[in-house]
Formats: sequence, C-alpha cells, structure tokens
Amino acid sequence: MGVPPDPDPPAGAGRRGRFRPLPSWAGPATRLVHGGQTPDLNAGAVVPPVYQTSTFRYPAAFSEAAAHGAVHIYSREGNPTLDGPAELLRDLEGGEAARLFASGMGAVSATLLSLLSAGDELVAPAGLYGGTADLLRGLLPRFGVKVRSLADPEALTPEEVVTQSTRLGLLETPTNPLLRVHDIRRWAEALHRAGALLVVDNTFASPINQRPLTLGADLVVHSATKYLGGHSDLVAGAVVGPSDLVDRVDPAYHLGAPLDPFAAFLLHRSLKTLALRIERHNRNAAAVVAALQGDPSVERLHYPGRGDPSQEEVASRQMTGRGGMVAISIRGGAEAVGRFLSALRIVQVAPSLGGVESLASVPRETSHRPYSDAERAALGIDDGLVRLSLGIEDAQDLVRDLREALSCARGGPSPPL
Ligand code: PLP
Repeated sequence: MGVPPDPDPPAGAGRRGRFRPLPSWAGPATRLVHGGQTPDLNAGAVVPPVYQTSTFRYPAAFSEAAAHGAVHIYSREGNPTLDGPAELLRDLEGGEAARLFASGMGAVSATLLSLLSAGDELVAPAGLYGGTADLLRGLLPRFGVKVRSLADPEALTPEEVVTQSTRLGLLETPTNPLLRVHDIRRWAEALHRAGALLVVDNTFASPINQRPLTLGADLVVHSATKYLGGHSDLVAGAVVGPSDLVDRVDPAYHLGAPLDPFAAFLLHRSLKTLALRIERHNRNAAAVVAALQGDPSVERLHYPGRGDPSQEEVASRQMTGRGGMVAISIRGGAEAVGRFLSALRIVQVAPSLGGVESLASVPRETSHRPYSDAERAALGIDDGLVRLSLGIEDAQDLVRDLREALSCARGGPSPPL
C-alpha cells in the first residue's frame, strides 16, 4: 500500500499497531495517560474509539491500518480497540508483548493449556484463587499434566518443590486470601535451573506495586477484572511477557477467548487512572491495618509482609507498595462474621476486588468455595476469615465503618445512621 518503512519503530510496533512514541523519561503515571495511543485519522478524537465490529475491510484506505501496516481482518484475531490497553500493560509490566482475554480465567487457562503437554509437571505453591486451583485439579490432570504441591504448606521452599521433571511453576503473590508473599526471584531461579518456566498471577499487587518480569518471571497473567479495570464494570484478563511465549498463548486461535471491544475500551479508560488509584488503595489499606490491629474482635490480621521478618524482607524487596487487600479473622467464627457483614454501611459485601468501592467477602463462601473444609483448614482459611478490598473512599470513613461493624460482631448495638 505504499507505506514507507519506519526507520526506527517504537517498542510495541508491529502487526498490532504503532503507538505515538513517548519520551524515554516519561514515568508510569504519564505513560498510562498518554501511552497506547495511535493518532485517530478519522475525527482526531483524544480518546480512542470503540471499533465495535466483527470484521474489517482490508486494507482500509484511510484507516490507521493503512497508515501503520496494522491490518485487521477479523475481531477474534485482533481489533484496534484492544491494541491500546494491551500496549499499556506491555509497557507497564516491562514485556515485549501482551494479549487481552475475555476474563482472568481465560488468560490463566489459555496460558496453561498452551504451554503444557501430557506428562509435564506443574508446581503451584499454596494460595491460589479457587478457580485456578479448580482448573489445576479438575481439568489439567485429564490431559495428563501432573500437578504438584497445591496443598503443601507454604513453608516448602522452591528448591524442595521443583524437580527435574517440572516444566512450569504458577504462583500468586500476594496470595489469596492470606496475603503471604512468595519470593518471585527465588522461584524463578529454582525453576530456571530445572529448565522450567515461571508464570506469576500479578492480579493482587498490580504492576504499579510489583513487576514480576523484572524479577525473573517468564510470563505475567492478570485478572484485569480487578485493579486494572478498577470500577467493577468489566471482566477481562491479560498475559504479558516475551513475544515468543505470548505468541504461544494468543487468545485468537484454538481457545478463542479474546476480549470484547467494548470491554477493551473500558479497560483503556481505567488504565489511565491506575497509578492514581493504586496509590490510594495502598494508603487506605495501610490506614485500615493501623486502625484494626489490636481491635478486640480481630483475632488475626493478614497484610503483605506483616508479622514475619522473612515475609517482610521479601515484600520490601519485591513490592513498591503493599496493595489494597487486608484479611481479618473475626473472633467468634461464622456467626460473628454474619453480624459484622450485616452491620457494614459503606463497605459492600460482594466477591471480587480491586474496584474503587471497598468490598468484604468471605473466602469460605466465595473464592475458596471449591476447596474442601479440610483443605481450607490446612490453608489457614478459618470460618472467621473476611477478605477486605479497600477502595478509594476517605480512609477515616472506612476505618469508622469497619470498627463499628466489628463492635456489632462481638454483640454491640447497631450504630445509629
Ligand atoms: N486470578 C486471581 C488472583 C483472581 O482473584 C481471579 C478472580 O477472582 C482470577 C485470577 C480470575 O479472574 P476472572 O474472574 O477475571 O476470570
């Protein structure tokens, strides 16, 4: 089509689009606002439009496709609305390529099914999201994948768990729901010595607080439904890493679960405020931890790095912020939890996390429902455990709401409106 080749294509250029380059000194918050943009040749819109189409005329004479060589043919295989948010995530995580999926589970399942074969061994330290654990136990063994160490205590070191037959390690850090931290670099080294790959689910930390690829991980997966989306109004997933590995888990072909263009539009909008939101989530969670330690209704309080020097050492080494998640074990078990939840007035009772609104959920009934009672007990998930996702509200309002509800949990009167 007579498009002259770019002598120095910016990072991220290629078949999926070419983005307005930013100065190398631009920081993450600036890159999130201005990155992932191609000039809109149609109307000059500042916000990229939604290409709500299943198919494309190609090559379209006056489109970005013609200008940049990013020819789109069919939306399962690529849609320009997905290119911007994928580029932002690629840049933020420090990968060569990123793909967006219809959900976090879509990203996790496509990654595992694409990279593993019958006879391969997968190791996964404790602390996985229940849906992922279910996939590991329910689906992968049917295809001959050996899954190890799922219910092992977290005390097992990577060197003890990884063997010469291990092909892939999968971990979440901080873990769900107890917010323990796994040492990403140590896991990467142990796995690489065995010739295996490390995949890190970075959903809880977000790439503002933790960048696993810079610590040795081979791939990062996300439930973009959470902090990346940030407004509890979309379901999405992502995979980021080196091009050769990301190409192997492309959502388009065998598994057919790419993100819908409208959800991609919402995700792009959300990513512009990610740095700002995470800063506030970090501060609100820290304020809640400071206020609730010592509360007579709180038996245990879980927060990344807290209460264990070796955990603190790992958290401070690999995280730049501790995130917006806190878990509390409420004295009095399930009954006290019921009183606590019904007394909350600002924090809403719902599963999921990472939105602007604070949420409380009971892992036993939500994320960890697929585990048996015995497994949950072994994992330290007791009947009094409540997981809090602290939003971006005023910290003092969250503290007041939680304190008053904890007082109700131990039989106190309901607070006046
Ligand atoms: N990974 C983690 C850590 C999660 O918490 C979740 C969902 O809660 C998922 C993956 C799955 O993501 P999705 O619900 O977007 O499929």
